[in-house]
Amino acid sequence: MQFAHDTEPTLVMASELLNTARHGRDRLATVAQLRAFLRRHEFTGWSSAEDADLASVQDLRERLAEVWTAPNTARLVAIVNALLAESPQQPRLTRHGAWDWHLHFTTDDAPIPVRLRAETAMALVDLVRSGNTDRLKRCAAEGCERVLVDLSRNKSRRFCSEGNCANRTHVAAYRERQAGAGREQKSNSPSE
Ligand SMILES: [Zn+2]
Ligand SMILES: [Zn+2]
Repeated sequence: MQFAHDTEPTLVMASELLNTARHGRDRLATVAQLRAFLRRHEFTGWSSAEDADLASVQDLRERLAEVWTAPNTARLVAIVNALLAESPQQPRLTRHGAWDWHLHFTTDDAPIPVRLRAETAMALVDLVRSGNTDRLKRCAAEGCERVLVDLSRNKSRRFCSEGNCANRTHVAAYRERQAGAGREQKSNSPSE
């Protein structure tokens, strides 16, 4: 494992936050959706999210989109530094639920958007300083706009985990090869 154990789930949460605005209608448009999202990611105090938090979380989502599409690390770092500057931090060790000791970067009573911004920014810090910004990827499937964080050992992951993207792409490639083989009058079947 390359990162602190709490960094990975936070990065996954960030990618999924971003994806709520991708592919079809906004899935983070109501406070109920925000709470469900936070709950799914076991974010402490998820039920305290309020209507007033929605706009700030949506703003964070837009800035994460810029992180994912940053043309270079310098630009990415500039965005992360801006997020850090807006995140007054008070790091402390904690454990809760199934999570053993890990860092929270704010107090648990700080507003949800403040905590979300701080946690996300610090996970991105981990990514940058370990030279792993190339793990922030866009799904390689045709027509898919989602992003992913590639946590595979050899940075080989190409597809998001939704929409059956990997399978869909492999089937399309297989059919393509089949059609090509047919056109060339070959009888051998393509390998997987
Ligand atoms: Zn925690
Ligand atoms: Zn996809």
